[in-house]
Amino acid sequence: MLGSRHIKHCRACGTLVEYRVPSEDNRERAVCGGCGTVHYENPLNVVGTLPVWEDQVLLCKRNIEPRYGLWTLPAGFMEIGETTEAGALRETDEEAGARVELQGLFTLLNVVRVSQVHFFYRARLLDTTFNPGYETIEARLFREDEVPWEQLAFRTVRETLHRYFDDRRRGQFGVHFADIV
Ligand SMILES: [Zn+2]
Repeated sequence: MLGSRHIKHCRACGTLVEYRVPSEDNRERAVCGGCGTVHYENPLNVVGTLPVWEDQVLLCKRNIEPRYGLWTLPAGFMEIGETTEAGALRETDEEAGARVELQGLFTLLNVVRVSQVHFFYRARLLDTTFNPGYETIEARLFREDEVPWEQLAFRTVRETLHRYFDDRRRGQFGVHFADIV
């Protein structure tokens, strides 16, 4: 399984770790042979927004790997000390330089293969002046028929956009949970 067995050295003392099931546990962990520290590895949260202006959505063209040159919604890893909402707003500012007002959680997507959980919030753009940071080549608005579906960077972005346009047609926005396999 991806994500396992990638710790090499103990974070406390630097000794090589070994992967084994500690006593009173039921999973393999990186255990230090020197000081005995058990290193627990848990999924990471990715937080972002689906910024909307009238009938258009905001996408960012990635200036970084992975998926350089492909389009994404503004999103990234949550930082220590912030809420999911604060992280989503920060990423929207950093990647798109966009000002938004959050309108509630829209998708919660489990990406078990890479040990991540992605949260996207619907967001209302307050204006259409974008000032993307270094991670973004270009930030621009797309109507549904303009979305570059074949050039989206991530499955979770595709899933979130599909559900947004479906909900918009129904005239009602829900909260969507899905597992991306
Ligand atoms: Zn150690």
